[in-house]
Amino acid sequence: MNTNHYSKADLHLHTNLTDGFFPPEKMVQAALKAQLNVIAITDHDLIKPALLARDYVQRHRLPIEVIVGEEITTRQGELIGLFLKKRVPPMLDIFQAAERVKKQGGLVIIPHPLRVIFGFGPSLKTIEKLNHERLADGIEIYNFWDYGFGLARARQKNNGHWHLANIGSSDSHHYKTIGKIYTLFPGRHAEDLKKAILRRQTRPFKPNLLFVKRKEELRHLWLRLRHPRSNQRLAKISFKTKLLHMLK
Ligand SMILES: [Zn+2]
Repeated sequence: MNTNHYSKADLHLHTNLTDGFFPPEKMVQAALKAQLNVIAITDHDLIKPALLARDYVQRHRLPIEVIVGEEITTRQGELIGLFLKKRVPPMLDIFQAAERVKKQGGLVIIPHPLRVIFGFGPSLKTIEKLNHERLADGIEIYNFWDYGFGLARARQKNNGHWHLANIGSSDSHHYKTIGKIYTLFPGRHAEDLKKAILRRQTRPFKPNLLFVKRKEELRHLWLRLRHPRSNQRLAKISFKTKLLHMLK
């Protein structure tokens, strides 16, 4: 396929306003360096970091577009909302959360499905139902923090039935991993990307990341030890969610 007129987007990024390590401005700067045309800031249960990043881009007239996103903690796993105007609160039923995203004209992306460590996505049954009710638009085929063989293949196989837009995201918490995995889309702007997701025309891209990943793991471990507090609020929500999930 000719991808000459395609652009790059990284649609899953975190800042230090939740469990990332750097402010929105730094993430934008790194995204520019990585030659991304569009990014989404998707902090946990907040849209403020994305709004700050978008303001920064507009103030400085930078050649990049920021989509306002949120990685929403729901009772059945995490969900990413893109093109948001209003924050969706955590701990809702996943179908309610997805409806709230769709009602404000947003898109729903399923982050890291089938993964059980370092954040968890909804189960296959839940995705099936979300898709059936037209409450899902895209699915992360690749995510930087995936562990386990055959994850991407299993997602692709299931998506053969669902026909959701294929997404690849770095899920960066550090500016150095931005754009290591990305999504290609026809066009240049955030609105083109939105259309491409709705028309299922996106393509995920992932190079061989074996050594990059080992290095990042060590870096993250080091940073977490030095800044343990940055993760506390999130850890509380995440623990509660997992507990509810297990009790189901
Ligand atoms: Zn994430």
